Amino acid sequence: MIPILEKSERKKDLSTGPSERPATLDGPRKSIRPELFKSNAKKAFWAVVVGTTFHLFSFAFLYWMIRYDYDFLLPLGWLLAGTSVTSLFVLGHDCAHASFLKNNKINDALGHFFFLFSFYPYYAWKFSHNAHHAHTNNLLFNEKDVYFDNAWIPFTLKQYSSLRKKTPLRAAIYRYTRYFPPLGSLLHNLIMHAYPGKFIDSHRKKVYLSYVVLLLGLAGISFGLVALTGKWTAILHFLVMPGLVFQFWMSYYTYLHHTSDEIYFYQPSDWNPYKGQILSTYNFLNPKLISYLHFHIDIHTPHHLSTAIPCYHLKEAYSDLLKSDFGKDVKEGKFSLSYLYKQWKSCHVWDEEGNRYLTFSEAHSR
Ligand SMILES: [Zn+2]
Repeated sequence: MIPILEKSERKKDLSTGPSERPATLDGPRKSIRPELFKSNAKKAFWAVVVGTTFHLFSFAFLYWMIRYDYDFLLPLGWLLAGTSVTSLFVLGHDCAHASFLKNNKINDALGHFFFLFSFYPYYAWKFSHNAHHAHTNNLLFNEKDVYFDNAWIPFTLKQYSSLRKKTPLRAAIYRYTRYFPPLGSLLHNLIMHAYPGKFIDSHRKKVYLSYVVLLLGLAGISFGLVALTGKWTAILHFLVMPGLVFQFWMSYYTYLHHTSDEIYFYQPSDWNPYKGQILSTYNFLNPKLISYLHFHIDIHTPHHLSTAIPCYHLKEAYSDLLKSDFGKDVKEGKFSLSYLYKQWKSCHVWDEEGNRYLTFSEAHSR
């Protein structure tokens, strides 16, 4: 286990002050050992073993409850299975970035499989997620396609005020998503991935392929579960409820990675990769067991520094980055309910002039 350095241990003498920060990621990338950018078949295999064993264990637990009518324990089973679906999704995330294994055909095949349990069409998510990486915290926005930072980018005060006047229902839905992030995550999956017209021509065929794989895969798994248990409700207990629990984890990670009162959003003319990927990424460090089971997805800056770094190298890459001159710019915090509450309460609408988040009541009084 490689310990994550405490802030006090980091190199303090950053020679480049805020005004002299680089615009590119070349420097921070060089601070990380080159081998950490490469896939490793043994480590990937071990990650698959951990992820699938965890998921099979959660399914066995659910099966035992259903078989012996321990219905009162089912919520615990859903929670466990939703948590293991998240582990599989993290592996699928690496497959989508082609960082999990060297062979990209195997990456795509595995990615489709890992995404089945969370109900995500693999290629559609891959393309929308790549756009998030290309434009992290850039206020560039386009409702007609998916090619902008579509992961928890807040409405600006101007956008939100106009939404309240023209389509109050959409403004209300936006408020619900900020107060109840799993809803935001669920809607994100639908709005960003269920409309093939939002994808460019060269992506669309693959998006359709992922729909077919998702539908056939889920149909096959559902058939197997019903045959195994003899109950139609197995689909609800093994797939639907864990899939909803997964939306909690999905929103937990994606919201916290780039939503914080400590980070900024930038106008397209002011944005650069260093601001987007280093200054605008937050590492909300989970308790060790959760971090292990979710393959250290809570350590997020190295992933934004380069998507070539697989999840099984995130801890080491983070350690290298923190020791470098750029460590001072890395934002992190350990799991804390008070921090979560603060973000949930205050990060609602982006004030472009004040360069800060506004609460909804502040936005309404403007
Ligand atoms: Zn990613």
